[in-house]
Amino acid sequence: MHATSFDELGLRPELLRAVAEAGYTIPTPIQAQAIPVILAGNDVMGGAQTGTGKTAGFALPILHKLAALANTSPSPARHPVRALILTPTRELAVQVEEAVKTYGKYTNVRSTVVYGGVDIKQQLPIVRGGVEILVATPGRLLDHIEQKSVYLGQVEIFVLDEADRMLDMGFIPDIKRIMALLPATAKRQNLLFSATLSNEIKKLADALLNEPQLIEVAKRNTAAETVSQHAYKVPADAKRALLAHLVRSESLTQVLCFMRTKHGASRLARQLEKDGLITDAIHGDKSQQTRMEALAAFKEGKLQVLVATDVAARGLDIDDLPLVLNYELPYVPEDYIHRIGRTGRAGASGRAISFVAPEEERLLDEIEKLLKKKVAIVAADGFDPNIAAQRAPRAAPRETRPRSTRDTAGPAERPRTSTRSAPAIRREETLRPATNGLTRQEERERAYALNPDQPARPATAAGTMNGSLLTNSGPASNGSRHKQAVPALLMKRPIHEPEKV
Ligand code: AMP
Repeated sequence: MHATSFDELGLRPELLRAVAEAGYTIPTPIQAQAIPVILAGNDVMGGAQTGTGKTAGFALPILHKLAALANTSPSPARHPVRALILTPTRELAVQVEEAVKTYGKYTNVRSTVVYGGVDIKQQLPIVRGGVEILVATPGRLLDHIEQKSVYLGQVEIFVLDEADRMLDMGFIPDIKRIMALLPATAKRQNLLFSATLSNEIKKLADALLNEPQLIEVAKRNTAAETVSQHAYKVPADAKRALLAHLVRSESLTQVLCFMRTKHGASRLARQLEKDGLITDAIHGDKSQQTRMEALAAFKEGKLQVLVATDVAARGLDIDDLPLVLNYELPYVPEDYIHRIGRTGRAGASGRAISFVAPEEERLLDEIEKLLKKKVAIVAADGFDPNIAAQRAPRAAPRETRPRSTRDTAGPAERPRTSTRSAPAIRREETLRPATNGLTRQEERERAYALNPDQPARPATAAGTMNGSLLTNSGPASNGSRHKQAVPALLMKRPIHEPEKV
C-alpha cells in the first residue's frame, strides 16, 4: 500500500512545508514508491518519464538525508558534495536544481548547478564555496574536476537522470570518468532514472547499481496514456500551411513543434514568423541565454509556437502544455515517446499530433510498432493539402511581437531555393537500413549520426552501445568499429562539448 499523502512518507517538517507551498498534496506514484525506498538507503532503478514527478521523488529523500548534516559554517570543507545529480541537458539540469532549491528552501542544504555553454568562471566561486548537492551535465563537471574546483570523494548519493538520453547522446565515457572519482559503488547510494528501460539501460544499471529496487511507473516503452495521439497525412510542402491553419482555426497557443534538425528548426521558425505566427526556436546552435528566454516566453504563453529539436527539448518541464506537434517524425521511434511526454504531464490530459508526409510513413509504422497501437489518422476541417502545397501561406499582420528572435545558427544555414522537401527525402533514403541486416542498435547509431543536432561521438563512445558498458579497460567486444579500449580516467577529453547541443 503506497502513501496517499506526503505526511505519511516520514519526511522532515521543513520539507513538507516546502512541498505544501509548492501546492502538492498527494505524492505521485513514483514519489510514493521511490521516497521510502531511497530513505531506507536502497539503490533504485526508476522507470519514469519526466512529467511523472520523479524529480521530487529523488530530491525530497536526498534533502531529507542531507538536512541532518547541513550547517551554516562558511568553511567550504564543511560543505562537501554529498549528492551528485547528472543530467543530459542544461535545461534539465537547471530544472532539477530549481526543484532542489524549492523543496530545500527551509533547510540549510546548499545546492548549485553547472552546465556547459556558459563561462566556467561564473560557476567557480559557488562551487568552490562548497555545496552539498551538485547538479551537473557531464562535460562541464569534468571541466570543473580538471580545474580542481570539485571533489567527488565524499559523494554519498549519485543520481543518473534520464539515463536513456545519456546513452543516446554518447555521454557514457564521460560518466565512466566521473564514476571512477566517486567512492566505491557499495559505499554510496545510486539512483538511476530512465524513461525507457531498454536492455542497454539494464546493462548500465548492472554496472552502476547495487541490488537496486525496480520502480516502474510507466509501462515499458509506452507513451503516457493521458495523451491523445493523432496524425495528419500531408505532403511535406503543405505542412507549413496546415500548421498555420490549425493554429488559427483552433486558436492554438503553446504548440511545441518538433523538428529533426537544428537547421530545420531555425528555418521553420523563420517561416512561421513570416506566416504571422509568434514563434521562436530552441536548438543546439542557440546560446543558453537565448534558449532560456525562448522557453520563458513560451511558458508565459507569449509564443504561439516553439520549434524545438529533440535534444534541446529533452526534459523540458512546462506546466499544462496542451499540444505537441511532430512536424517531422523522428528517425528514432523512442524519440516520439520522449516528445509526446512533454504534454499530459503529472496526470493532466494532453494532445499530440503528427504531420506525416508520404516519405515518413515508414517512420510512423516503426512508431506504431513501438507503441503497439495505431495512431489515428485524421483530416483537418477546411484544409485542402493540394491547394496549400501550391501556395505559401500569406503573412497575416501581427499585433505585437513580445520579444526579438535572436538566432545564432550562423552562416551554416542557407535559405532553400525550393519549397520542395527533396533533401529530406534523400535523407530518408539513406536511412532505409531496416531491411539490410543492421541491428537495431546500429540503426539507431546511424540515425543519430545523420542528425546534425547530435553531438559528435567521442571515439571512446563506441563502447557504449555494444555491451561493454562501464568497463574501464579492455577492447570493446564486437567488431572492428569498436576496437578502441576505453582509456583510463581523466584522459584529455575530446574537444567536442556534448551538452552544447
Ligand atoms: P518531473 O517529472 O519531476 O519533471 O515533474 C513534473 C511536474 O509535476 C513538475 O512541474 C512538478 O512541479 C509537478 N509535480 C511534482 N510532484 C507533484 C505532485 N505530488 N503533485 C502535483 N504536481 C507535482
